[in-house]
Amino acid sequence: MSAPSGTTALRHYANYINGRDQPGRDGGVFQSINPTTGAIWGDFVESSAADVDTAVRAAHSAFEGPWSALSPTRRGRLMMRWGELIAASADKIGTIETEQNGKLFAEMRTQARVAQDWLTYFGGLADKIEGRVIPLDRMSILNYTVLEPLGVVAAIVPWNSPTFLTIMSIAPALAAGNTVVIKPSEVTSASAVELARLAEEAGIPPGVVNVVTGGRIAGEALVDHPLVAKISFTGSDAAGRTIAARAGQRLIGCTLELGGKSPNIVFDDADIDQVEAGVLSGIFAAAGQTCVAGSRAFFQKKIYDRLVSRLVDRANSIRLGDPLKAESQMGPVASSAQLAKDERMVAQAVADGAEILAGGKRVRLEGLENGYFYAPTILQGAGSLDFIMQNEVFGPVLCVAPFEDEDDVVAMANSTPFGLAAGVWTNDIRRGHLMARRLRAGTVWINTYRALAFNSPFGGFKDSGLGRQNGAEAVNQFLQTKSVWCELSRDIQDPFVIKT
Ligand code: NAD
Repeated sequence: MSAPSGTTALRHYANYINGRDQPGRDGGVFQSINPTTGAIWGDFVESSAADVDTAVRAAHSAFEGPWSALSPTRRGRLMMRWGELIAASADKIGTIETEQNGKLFAEMRTQARVAQDWLTYFGGLADKIEGRVIPLDRMSILNYTVLEPLGVVAAIVPWNSPTFLTIMSIAPALAAGNTVVIKPSEVTSASAVELARLAEEAGIPPGVVNVVTGGRIAGEALVDHPLVAKISFTGSDAAGRTIAARAGQRLIGCTLELGGKSPNIVFDDADIDQVEAGVLSGIFAAAGQTCVAGSRAFFQKKIYDRLVSRLVDRANSIRLGDPLKAESQMGPVASSAQLAKDERMVAQAVADGAEILAGGKRVRLEGLENGYFYAPTILQGAGSLDFIMQNEVFGPVLCVAPFEDEDDVVAMANSTPFGLAAGVWTNDIRRGHLMARRLRAGTVWINTYRALAFNSPFGGFKDSGLGRQNGAEAVNQFLQTKSVWCELSRDIQDPFVIKT
């Protein structure tokens, strides 16, 4: 089904603070562009440090007030209700996200729908956060732990899956009893505001979920704000390093979900039809704009030529078009900056000796001449330490390379600074699990790719991140442990009386 056709009128969005739309204090705005048409889509508040301060203070008041006064069960129920409302608005949210980031409507709508699963799961965890009683050697003392929320959590998110990544970041924080200020990407700011409005409608108290739009200035003001107790950041490794350093100055923690250069490894005994679909979806299903993109594919020598030729045929036949239309298989990349990056990195790969087997160029579609379309691209001949094999493109660019055996491919796969995900395709299940042990990545898929669930931990090794999202342990990232000691006996512990 195609998306409900969007309007061409310019949209205007304010910040969403303390349960209502709030214009920026100094009137600054920025515009977002529809990458399919190159036309202006809408305008948003360019938030200043003063706007960020208003939002953080609202979140802090809600934390000190109504949110902490709710029982954990009630808090969880409100989160679940919010999830229902988001899923019911999936068409609207999917449409505005597609119009802002160019990814297929079917994918954006699905992400809005499954946000409900995340809010249901984490809402259900809200009343299962339990401390422990510790059996001390001093048996007259009752010692127990209480897990307490941190306060205001700042969630800074990217443009590629805005609703999904926002909910993935904040659901565990809210379950733990924190309040949040979201700073969406300047490329896709609208859906965060829509989500916050729905939170209000679900009965979540004003100030629990706030949104400030803007770019680096707003993001940095949020990280530096003295009432922000924790950062949940999803984005590039470059921004992650800057944010972690600033948070370090303030002695607060960061959960970091960063980039990747994930290997997709195919042994010659794998099911080739399954592999073809898995490798294609790993890199081209979202125009390469997913953190887990399988952007390096290693094929065992015996099947290399056959598999490459099948993939080149498939890449050349992918239908580029308006991502709101059901017949399109790939939309544009999200911004002119991303398009320029794709072009620049492919040009560098070629200068370094790589050969273009498919794509490698911008595409101008009839009627969408100003859209940021880039052809599905396959490169071969890059060495595993070359620039294109070491750095994230975040576009539809796949590098392919042959390998001999396990040792050979493990060395190449682990040779980048990243460690987000990896795929292994084989019918030898022992080999699959042994490879999973040797790959330095937070997620390893065997005979599948890009699978994710609310109850399975997700996060990066090495430069791909710090901390874990999803799964019960995600809640722990937003809690702090208090140890309570209570002497039960009436013994007098006089420091100057020595007991023999
Ligand atoms: P980005 O790092 O440029 O921006 C991400 C967010 O951070 C945006 O909201 C941006 O405004 C903000 N920001 C940038 N610099 C900042 C600073 N100094 N202080 C505070 N905020 C700042 O990333 P992007 O281009 O929006 O997204 C693409 C990147 O995100 C890719 O590297 C991709 O791999 C990564 N990503 C990771 C995951 C994951 O779960 N590991 C998921 C999706 C995307």
